[in-house]
Amino acid sequence: RLVTPQSASPNEDSIERALRPRSLADYTGQRRVCEQLEIFIQAARKRQESLDHVLLFGPPGLGKTTLAHIIANEMGVQMRQTSGPVLERPGDLAALLTNLERNDVLFIDEIHRLSPVVEEILYPALEDFQIDILIGEGPAARSVKIDLQPFTLVGATTRAGMLTNPLRDRFGIVSRLEFYSAEDLTHIVARSAGLLNAHATQDGAAEIARRARGTPRIANRLLRRVRDYAEVRSNGNIDADIAGAALAMLEVDPQGLDLMDRKLLDAIVHKFDGGPVGVDSLAAAIGEERDTIEDVIEPYLIQHGYLQRTPRGRIATQTTWRHLGLTPPPGAQG
Ligand code: ADP
Repeated sequence: RLVTPQSASPNEDSIERALRPRSLADYTGQRRVCEQLEIFIQAARKRQESLDHVLLFGPPGLGKTTLAHIIANEMGVQMRQTSGPVLERPGDLAALLTNLERNDVLFIDEIHRLSPVVEEILYPALEDFQIDILIGEGPAARSVKIDLQPFTLVGATTRAGMLTNPLRDRFGIVSRLEFYSAEDLTHIVARSAGLLNAHATQDGAAEIARRARGTPRIANRLLRRVRDYAEVRSNGNIDADIAGAALAMLEVDPQGLDLMDRKLLDAIVHKFDGGPVGVDSLAAAIGEERDTIEDVIEPYLIQHGYLQRTPRGRIATQTTWRHLGLTPPPGAQG
């Protein structure tokens, strides 16, 4: 899927690294989050202490990993990176924690997917910079306390609601990342175009930004595809017309919705009479996983008024009916 906000391949990962801003000053948008972090980072640096643990939540592709790198850069420390599902055994996490140097950043992506036994190790580590590990087995087993260097955990998750309460309570700084405005995304596209040596006019960048679902990762990906199109079909210059034509070819519609979005809206309207329909039935109807619908597809559609989430299920709005070229039924929500 072209506009999937998750990163798709190792090749894309390396391009993403190249486009990643390295300082707060270079990080576009999310002003409130950046302002807060700037103050907390400066204060921690002044006191020569580790920064409080930070929880970042929001849909994929909005810049959580980027922000974790920036926090480490601005603190002048190293960052180690891992993810919830990768840490299978308590020993995996213990090995990482005991290798951290003073005030380092440990970034755990998808932190809501930590296994309970691993999470258990994390509590004393976060609170007292100590871990208890069990050495040996059976009656001879004994618990050993190991002191850790002070460190900062930066946890990232798509949904804060999926964290256990005791884990969430241990983060001193909790920040929610929002979808980006078209203006901020235009700035990001223009900056990326510069780094990729592509030539985009202001209108060209704005056209890509407008259709990128409020998500920098998608904006950068669309930019690369539009650049290909501009080089092959034209003189390489990305203006609004070329961007529009390229995006139409990629089946990203003028509102920035792609095939999968339209498939989901189409299913609600045509298979379920506009809803309400439960997310599991929807998942089965369009052959997508429930998590993908909830984390990736829905948030943007809900924010832009295509979908409403009610206790009885998802409902298509008047905007959705019109988007699909249909007349909304009398009872359709606004
Ligand atoms: P997440 O961890 O939330 O899935 P990433 O931090 O990996 O998202 O961001 C995806 C890409 O989007 C990065 O490679 C980066 O180039 C770009 N990006 C994210 N946030 C910003 C931003 N605020 N300014 C500029 N580029 C950004």
